Amino acid sequence: MNNEMNWVHHGYHLGVYFWRPTVWWNPVAGVGPEERAWLEEKYPGWNDSFGKYWDEMGKNIRAGQPELTLPETFPIVCNSCQLPVCTPAGYAAGYLDSPLPRQLTIDGRTYTFCSEPCQWVFEQTPEQFKGHTSIVDRLLSGVIQPPTIPGALAYMGLSPEECGQDGTDYDWAHATAPVLAGPIASGTA
Ligand SMILES: [Zn+2]
Repeated sequence: MNNEMNWVHHGYHLGVYFWRPTVWWNPVAGVGPEERAWLEEKYPGWNDSFGKYWDEMGKNIRAGQPELTLPETFPIVCNSCQLPVCTPAGYAAGYLDSPLPRQLTIDGRTYTFCSEPCQWVFEQTPEQFKGHTSIVDRLLSGVIQPPTIPGALAYMGLSPEECGQDGTDYDWAHATAPVLAGPIASGTA
């Protein structure tokens, strides 16, 4: 758990941005050129671990296809706090030995947790929590119809106008547009 400060918030920020239609505010990416330089300095290796995902989204936005930066399914969520499970991001960034989340099986049903504290809370009074179904449980079991992102957003009571959108109209992506190769002006520095 000690190394979580190196990756959890980067993973959650990426997740909130990627799943922005599911939140009720407009997430600000905060990954323009200056911000990325700060992130790399503060968290050495950030460009290789997390920046590469922002790179892909930036490319699609600059190509006029922002829809490719939107989710087609939901993340695994914690059966205790209901927040997304972030361990795959920690694993992909090289901070965890496994992407698998903590799990517990009770009466034939497997529950997934984001963290040790959430599993601990659940285990104190499982009878209080074990009957609850998460949004993902409902999506996979057919409670949500149609079983699609639009269907799930409607089930959550989020109309298209209420769904989160990029907080700066993609300024960050356009600000990182690569300069085309060409003669470099000299004598101006
Ligand atoms: Zn949790």
